[in-house]
Amino acid sequence: MEKKRILTGDRPTGKLHIGHYFGSLQNRVKLQDMHETFIEVADVQALTDNFNNPEKVKNNVKEIIMDQLSVGIDPNKVTFFLQSMIPEIAELTVFYSNLVTIARLERNPTVKTEIAQKREIFGESVTYGFLGYPVSQAADITAFNATIIPVGEDQLPLIEQCREIVRKFNSIYGETLQEPQAYLGENKRIKGLDGNEKMGKSLGNAIYLSDSEEEISKKVMSAVTDPSRIKKDDPGNPNICMVAYYHNLFSKEEVEAICEECKAGRRGCVACKKQLIKNITEHLAPIREKRCYYEQRPEEVKEILMEGTLKARKEAAITMGKVKEAMKLDYFKEV
Ligand code: SF4
Repeated sequence: MEKKRILTGDRPTGKLHIGHYFGSLQNRVKLQDMHETFIEVADVQALTDNFNNPEKVKNNVKEIIMDQLSVGIDPNKVTFFLQSMIPEIAELTVFYSNLVTIARLERNPTVKTEIAQKREIFGESVTYGFLGYPVSQAADITAFNATIIPVGEDQLPLIEQCREIVRKFNSIYGETLQEPQAYLGENKRIKGLDGNEKMGKSLGNAIYLSDSEEEISKKVMSAVTDPSRIKKDDPGNPNICMVAYYHNLFSKEEVEAICEECKAGRRGCVACKKQLIKNITEHLAPIREKRCYYEQRPEEVKEILMEGTLKARKEAAITMGKVKEAMKLDYFKEV
């Protein structure tokens, strides 16, 4: 199979949790053997809604690299890079901003949803930077000539916006850029401990890959269960219990029996939670162990990011050369 190029990444705004693990990281581990993978640490994008907290963004850069290394993403197979160290992305963003209308950005369903979620940051008036982040994402993708973009369904409008920008660019300046395709893969969205559709730091409902057994235990003990169960022998409904939901992820072989016992009133919630704590802890143990290795070797982590960024910069420079030539911005080429 011909190797294609993938672009994926994360905003460094917090450590990665089991939602990321099941939603995208496992997929990355699988895809790294099939395609050439570039993984962006999207620090510039993180600043669009954290512009007043640059420390938070900076401090989380190495955390998310360590999280990814610890789940088995191999720095010899993928290229990790820092978005802010690739000035070509910022340049492309400026060029592409002429190809998108404000009305089109405001209509983008992903942007609309995110603006609504961030009212406490922006109030009634969103910043130019945040509204324009799909344009910057189009720059991220095209700078590396990536054609496969793993996303969740909620992000499909961003890929469509990128494809529109590429088509418009090519129709005005000549065939230069490649249209990317969204890759839905097995991207699962994992619910939070409180039953919220989304797991997230700001929601306080996440289990992090770096959580200790004690932290996991505290969190699972507070997870939402079937509220109608008062006594141990009350028949339960595992369909509305977050403990059963996580057993489905971490106790695959036992989950059927667990649900049957719950429905028949033959299972206590405390014992059920303890079993889950044990299974999550066992599952995350090798990940935590690997993370520990990198926590003790910050120089190695820095080196991985630096080397990857240098490689990415070279790729982006090639694209920039083609883009500037197409846009007649190659003034001194013959000098
Ligand atoms: Fe949930 Fe387990 Fe209690 Fe059933 S027994 S309600 S699955 S915690």
